[in-house]
Amino acid sequence: MKKIKWDKGHGGSDPGAVANGLKEKDLTHRIVEYAMDYLEANYTGFEQRTTRAGDQTLTLSQRADMANKWGADVFISVHINAGKGTGFEIYVHPNASPQSVALQNVLHGEILSAIQQFENITDRGKKRANYAVLRETKMPAVLTENLFIDSNDAKLLKNEAFLKAVGEAHARGVAKFLGLPQKAKPQPQTQQKPQQKASNQKLYRVQVGSFSDRKNAERLAAELKKKGYPAIIV
Ligand SMILES: [Zn+2]
Repeated sequence: MKKIKWDKGHGGSDPGAVANGLKEKDLTHRIVEYAMDYLEANYTGFEQRTTRAGDQTLTLSQRADMANKWGADVFISVHINAGKGTGFEIYVHPNASPQSVALQNVLHGEILSAIQQFENITDRGKKRANYAVLRETKMPAVLTENLFIDSNDAKLLKNEAFLKAVGEAHARGVAKFLGLPQKAKPQPQTQQKPQQKASNQKLYRVQVGSFSDRKNAERLAAELKKKGYPAIIV
């Protein structure tokens, strides 16, 4: 059973970077939640926890300690960049283990390709920095900076589908790195059974008109109702 520790960058009294009506902590929490949902839905053989289930204020060392005490196999800290740049970058510690570098490589590829399906955003590359959560964690650890909150990148960060895609790419990368087995997909046969049952009690619908102008549809529906027929507009 592999243990995955997700770190939602910022929270509580620390919102992280704030610009363009966005708070870094709101975005990182969404991304991590999408990542966790995706893993839950598609893979087995793991347990996952986040450094904060809600919006607690935590120090960097507290978050690293939590991962160490739990004995996590992997630690992923999710952030949004600031400083008016553009693009995606991913960090490991300057003295990173080969496993951390392997995790960085897999996640870099997955996340970048997900981002580039929305826009041809700059690859700022695989970097190294002496960040506390990377320095103090004992397992393979990375920190992602997912675009800039205070530049043109913000328009992508306001797109929920984008946050979902970025979260799911984090999940796929972690699953690949840990070699998590995929959940069996439901067989088509088991999906047909309820349909066969339902066919014993068929419903017949009568369509009485289709209109390009909704007003005409409403007029006919009103007329039918007046005559005692239930009418719905689809
Ligand atoms: Zn941050």
